[in-house]
Amino acid sequence: MTRALLSVWDKTGILDLAKALAAKNIGILSSGGTAKTLRDAGIPVTDVSEYTGFPEMMDGRVKTLHPKVHGGLLGRRGTDDDIMKAHGIEGIDILCVNLYPFEEMSQKNLPLDELIEFVDIGGPAMIRAASKNFKDVAVVVDPSDYPMVIEAVSGKGFTHEQRLGLAAKALTRTAAYDGAISNYLNSLNRDFPTTLTLQFANGRPLRYGENPHQKAAVYGTSGIAGQIALQGKEMSYNNYLDVHAAVSLCRELPSPATVIVKHNNPCGVALGTTQLASYLKARDVDPVSAYGSVVAMNSQVGKDVAEEICSTFVEVLIAPSFTDEAREIMKRKENMRLLLLPSEVPADEVRTIDGGILVQRTPAHEEGWDVVSKRAPTAEEVAALKLAWKVVKHAKSNAIIYANATETVGLGVGQMSRVDSAKLAVIKAAEFGRTMKGTVIASDAFLPFADTLEVAAAAGATALIQPGGSIRDAEVIAKADELGVAVVFTGTRHFRH
Ligand code: 5GP
Repeated sequence: MTRALLSVWDKTGILDLAKALAAKNIGILSSGGTAKTLRDAGIPVTDVSEYTGFPEMMDGRVKTLHPKVHGGLLGRRGTDDDIMKAHGIEGIDILCVNLYPFEEMSQKNLPLDELIEFVDIGGPAMIRAASKNFKDVAVVVDPSDYPMVIEAVSGKGFTHEQRLGLAAKALTRTAAYDGAISNYLNSLNRDFPTTLTLQFANGRPLRYGENPHQKAAVYGTSGIAGQIALQGKEMSYNNYLDVHAAVSLCRELPSPATVIVKHNNPCGVALGTTQLASYLKARDVDPVSAYGSVVAMNSQVGKDVAEEICSTFVEVLIAPSFTDEAREIMKRKENMRLLLLPSEVPADEVRTIDGGILVQRTPAHEEGWDVVSKRAPTAEEVAALKLAWKVVKHAKSNAIIYANATETVGLGVGQMSRVDSAKLAVIKAAEFGRTMKGTVIASDAFLPFADTLEVAAAAGATALIQPGGSIRDAEVIAKADELGVAVVFTGTRHFRH
């Protein structure tokens, strides 16, 4: 190896790399800013413009776009040697580039003509050239790879596999970069563009998918997908799904709260004066289903919660933080996974279907609230309605949630008919010796008939919250008035398929 070209926006680690190159007498070519950084540190460097005989121009739009650079990256050693020689093109054996920070700057609401200057042209062009010629050129786009490069340069050089791996990574980078730029431009004229490039890094194979005979992987570096368990077995495919469901609800609740999820549906949700109190209440809603569940909490987990969690079987516990004492206690359950609750709510929800994806905005928190019955709900009922309404938003349709002011009492979810959900919740609650007396119910969509209300009222529910909007609203309200049930319309539907 005789020559390297360094052109980096992020100068992290570049001096160490350059020193290692210089120590092996590898000549360094650099663009303006990078050359200055090296020169200031006393490292010998040749400016690209000196090598090409062509100045950098147009405020940096043209720096390295020259046949002497691209020929040096693309020239096949052994095949193109004569033509390279004839045109004074020197082979470049190592390319180290990282790109203008378009992704970061696109979050900053810059005017388009300022942002467009962060579209790197020469960098991706060089990366693509070097990647194509990976047999002869090592291409480095990530400062975390510098130690590996330094080792190769100082030792036996790069292996074929290393150069291939570097090229694959480099092209993943340019693909993601171009995807970010095209997504941005596509989104300027509409909420949802007609084309969308999805890029997910950090793909990790999973032991299996929903079932043991299905191969699976998780991709992503942020949110839940990017989480690595603090302890316990590796996260499974189903764990990720359940954690997603638990977290979506948990972060909407006042703290401290606990959400217990089984197979993507809440099976116990409770608020409490302490995290422990809320956990115990949530667990006791349906202790049978809570076995082997995913549990999300929205305040710090301390010793008391840790002890209690360890007395049963929980697949995953997710919370904003854990005390050291709690961590120590939970080591006893070496298989139980611990995760940190991500604070950022994703802007969009993405789901796959055969041949494509569906994207929708994550539903907002604001809710309307209209009392439409003769009787207004009491303060106690209002608190219960608020909780039930939050929970129903995150349960699979059709869902009917019975709750009191601090906990869900019965959950009827994922049924094909709403009235069945209302009945099921009562049957299940009875199994655990619970009564619906004094509860309220929430329905994710309007009640098309009065039957669901009649089932709930017969079981003891005294108030109802639902979007409204049915052609039979008047019928449902009349029935509620007859039964003395308070009814609130929100105007917002919460289907969840
Ligand atoms: P420097 O700080 O060395 O002046 O610039 C380094 C940055 O310039 C890197 O991010 C690199 O990808 C980018 N770059 C290199 N050549 C060109 C070019 O010809 N055009 C543009 N727009 N960017 C380039």
